[in-house]
Amino acid sequence: MKQVAAVIEILKEILHGQVVSDPDVLESYARDETIDLACRPDCVVRAHSSQDVATVLKICNQNNVPVTPRGAGTGVTGGAVPVAGGVVLSMERLNRILEIDARNLIAVVEPGAITADIQKAAHQHHLLYPPDPASLETCSIGGNVAENAGGPRAVKYGITAHYVTGLEFVLADGSIITSGGKYVKNATGYNICGILTGSEGTLAVITKIYLRLVPAPACSIDLLLPFVDLPAAVAAVSALLQHGIIPATIEFMEQDAIRFVAAYLGQGMPCADAGAHLLLQVEGSSQQACHETLEAIASACGVEGENVFVAQTSLQQERLWKGRRSIREALREESPVLLAEDCVVPRGEIAEFLANLKVYLRGRALRSVMFGHAGDGNVHIDVLKDSMPDDQWKVMLPELKREIYRQAISHGGTITGEHGIGCIRREYLSMAKSPEEIELYRRIKQAFDPRGTLNPGKAF
Ligand SMILES: Cc1cc2nc3c(=O)[nH]c(=O)nc-3n(C[C@H](O)[C@H](O)[C@H](O)COP(=O)(O)OP(=O)(O)OC[C@H]3O[C@@H](n4cnc5c(N)ncnc54)[C@H](O)[C@@H]3O)c2cc1C
Repeated sequence: MKQVAAVIEILKEILHGQVVSDPDVLESYARDETIDLACRPDCVVRAHSSQDVATVLKICNQNNVPVTPRGAGTGVTGGAVPVAGGVVLSMERLNRILEIDARNLIAVVEPGAITADIQKAAHQHHLLYPPDPASLETCSIGGNVAENAGGPRAVKYGITAHYVTGLEFVLADGSIITSGGKYVKNATGYNICGILTGSEGTLAVITKIYLRLVPAPACSIDLLLPFVDLPAAVAAVSALLQHGIIPATIEFMEQDAIRFVAAYLGQGMPCADAGAHLLLQVEGSSQQACHETLEAIASACGVEGENVFVAQTSLQQERLWKGRRSIREALREESPVLLAEDCVVPRGEIAEFLANLKVYLRGRALRSVMFGHAGDGNVHIDVLKDSMPDDQWKVMLPELKREIYRQAISHGGTITGEHGIGCIRREYLSMAKSPEEIELYRRIKQAFDPRGTLNPGKAF
């Protein structure tokens, strides 16, 4: 067994120019987007191929050196933070879009490819890769698969897991395996792609991804509907779904979310006086079809047509979505430290869940902003630290998280809908999962990575 320093020297000899141990560079791999969490690795390896990944894993595994896979570092639960030190295995250079196969409606990509670039490449063939996390301009597809990322379009199109038809991956011992491929049905053996999707870098390193594409809609329009308050907005979502109207997105935002975003971006937002908003994208075969759906939506939601803001230009469309995607940054401008939770509950429970939480938070003089994916029940609950002293905040956090999770579970939901467990929710996993299920996770981990080399300290 060699010391970490000796292992780094061996890696440097084999992978010329790909191994970095400069402390300044290592510092930028010490964190992802998780607030208040950092840990410097001993070195970073920037893989160029599956073989590089296999080499690193084999050597580290033999010498008990931890390896933390890293995509673009936009995760918000500490998944890519090397809490046990060792090697960060970065996918940033393994980033090619290998093929958009329009005949088979499949994209073949490397894990470091940026999600928005895959969408643009598919679009050139009039195809759509639907999953659209708000971070899509910066996150990588490998990170999306590892976290089973979702986004606004989940209400109509589903999440990352629904689009993965095949994976090439490397086990901790260096073996390279491909499961699935360009075909969209597969009843041959265990669903290994399903196990790896959402495995948070703890089971294997994903080195190639086959993604299902769908035909791009001919037309779409974006609209913002104002409501007096959050319960009214959420009630409108149920009304829409009960009328059989499924827009591509149904996002909700409290008034404060719009207010903070307007201040952060230095631009006015439409309907800013409303107590809550729904941001919808409607798709159709023609502009006329979209406008007919729009009228049906206004009627189902009980909103006067003239109160609906319809984005008339691509600039207005972009402005609406930039606003939605900037909420997290805008809130951090308001309070640099905050608790960001992403619980999921059955859609019909959203209103009561959030109303109860508001009462609880107000009772503790805590400001909160709620927004998110009303169409699929995945709600973002951001609680602002504001000027609370650090020590008081840190003491209060565990109980606050526990209460939010307890309420989500009591409404038939669970503790995270898209951001994952990582290292910041590990101790709460047992609130949502039975001891038997967690034991099964341990046995799966043992089968993939018996020496515990991959991403120690994460998930469970
Ligand atoms: C502003 C903002 C908005 C966001 N919006 C959303 C959203 O709408 N929906 C959503 O789901 N998430 C969202 N996120 C969270 C984050 O962007 C996603 O979790 C994303 O999937 C992470 O991708 P990444 O490439 O940055 O992964 P990283 O942060 O680098 O890694 C995430 C995890 O994946 C593992 N991993 C990465 N690559 C591989 C690989 N090739 N093989 C095995 N494991 C790997 C890492 O070990 C880690 O555990 C948001 C984050 C920010 C900052």
